[in-house]
Amino acid sequence: MRIVPDFLPDDHPLVALPMVPKWISVHDTGNPARGANAAMHGRYLRSQEAIDREVMWHFTVDDREIRQHLPLDRNGWHAGDGWDGPGNRQSIAIEICENSDGDRAAAEANAAMLVAHLVRTVPSLLPFPECVVQHNRWSGKNCPRVLRGRPDGWEGFIAMVRQYLQSEERQPVPIRDAAGQTLATGWLDGNTTVVPLRELAEALGLRVEWHQDERAVTLRWPGLA
Ligand SMILES: [Zn+2]
Repeated sequence: MRIVPDFLPDDHPLVALPMVPKWISVHDTGNPARGANAAMHGRYLRSQEAIDREVMWHFTVDDREIRQHLPLDRNGWHAGDGWDGPGNRQSIAIEICENSDGDRAAAEANAAMLVAHLVRTVPSLLPFPECVVQHNRWSGKNCPRVLRGRPDGWEGFIAMVRQYLQSEERQPVPIRDAAGQTLATGWLDGNTTVVPLRELAEALGLRVEWHQDERAVTLRWPGLA
């Protein structure tokens, strides 16, 4: 999985304290404006407004990419539970974008993939699914509002994380390009290599659209209609 480094500068005015994360806190950005994607939120974190509001977080995820703004051993300020609260001081924060010009289902899938990756690679986290919590848990805020506002939205998100975890538990088969770069990771089912479509297609620069009602997928080549 590709994570785009978009780290805040060392001289950022908000303090990031040492952290040993136990939880992953899931947020929605609350910003449905066009263009309010991961790159824009990365810029926002550097703005005076964000500094005045004393907010920062670890990852922003949209339909195209995952951006990381803080290292996992430093805390952010996102949970609304105060200077010493476990949300702020012991949880990794993920913001899922809601920009109206983005594909929200794809953003949620990318976020679930990121959560699965963190569950597998951050040993200090509580066991899954206990470790994955809503911002709501820390402060009572209606966040992540899109997942919370949809019937079974949160349960569906956790189920998607579980699917990614299960697929990762199988014997991994790296799918590489000619330069040896890993594009995706699949697994063997008999003598067939099974690969998560979105992971491979997006690594190849294609866009994946899932149509829930038809249970069908459209692949789009950027630049073509
Ligand atoms: Zn939130």
